[in-house]
Amino acid sequence: MGEFELIERFFKRPARNAVVGVGDDCAIWAPQPGQQLALSSDMLVEGRHFLSTVNPRHLGHKALAVNLSDLAACGAVPRAFLLSLSLPRVDEDWLSDFSQGLFALAVAHDCELIGGDTTQGPLNISITVMGEVPVGQAILRSGAQVGDDIYVSGHLGDARLALEAFRGHLSLPQNIFELARSRLESPTPRNTLGVSLRGLAHAMADVSDGLLGDLGHILKASGAGAVLSLPALSGLMMSRPLWTCPQEWLLRCVLSGGDDYELVFTAPASSRQALESAASDCGTQITHIGHISAEPSVRLVDEKGTVQPATYPSFDHFA
Ligand code: ADP
Ligand code: MG
Repeated sequence: MGEFELIERFFKRPARNAVVGVGDDCAIWAPQPGQQLALSSDMLVEGRHFLSTVNPRHLGHKALAVNLSDLAACGAVPRAFLLSLSLPRVDEDWLSDFSQGLFALAVAHDCELIGGDTTQGPLNISITVMGEVPVGQAILRSGAQVGDDIYVSGHLGDARLALEAFRGHLSLPQNIFELARSRLESPTPRNTLGVSLRGLAHAMADVSDGLLGDLGHILKASGAGAVLSLPALSGLMMSRPLWTCPQEWLLRCVLSGGDDYELVFTAPASSRQALESAASDCGTQITHIGHISAEPSVRLVDEKGTVQPATYPSFDHFA
């Protein structure tokens, strides 16, 4: 099968909202009046971001999910994406499963594939996603204010737990491993929540490299620090009620795990009620984990009120 037959068969779908979709030199897109475009790219490299044994359907899902998560973090509605694929060979079964995982999530978010590039080479999947947000309403990293509450959506740490189990660093009961593995392989981007936080959240980021790292981006951009509650943090792992995770692993995974694709955001205490009802309307749990401080560091407070510095590093490809 040649390059063009491959594109036609696995990736071409009729254009929906695009003026021109897959098939011409460029896709053509007309943003709706009063909207700004939000654009982001994320690449998945075999051996770096996923294991060669991963189910291609999950890989298709995850490649788009990590991109949708960036749109969620800005409060943008997903609209369209471009897919650049480098493939070692044409494997029809693999392509069929990959495209099914990809399109299932794309359809669920009404986000259409409008173009891309296909080449032969080491397995590498790069997606550029485009969303729309009303002019001036994007939620940025730079808006956190001293005294703001800090929240995270959903659960943190389970994806890292699965990764450590894959690496043989710890052994997990089978049911915990399966749960953690699904968090690693099929993350759920929080787009509905992200959009509903417009006008409520002062600052937001998605948790892709670990809570401390991604919250750290908000703190740096906002010129502030944070105080986090250890009891609140240790309740965040989804698998936590099901087994006794060693405390050291629990904190390491929650604070610097990565691959969570949850949202971390700040909001004034006056918005608590509105936040709770926005989150419950979306069916997404949110947890209040601390507050923004003027002192530019991150400190952890335990149940006795003892304060310690937060020292878990976030993931850095070049560190
Ligand atoms: P060009 O040669 O102009 O770069 P290509 O021949 O690479 O264009 O691609 C032909 C058409 O197929 C273009 O519309 C391009 O956007 C689209 N396309 C290529 N690869 C993919 C892909 N993996 N997924 C979706 N569309 C793709
Ligand atoms: Mg090309």
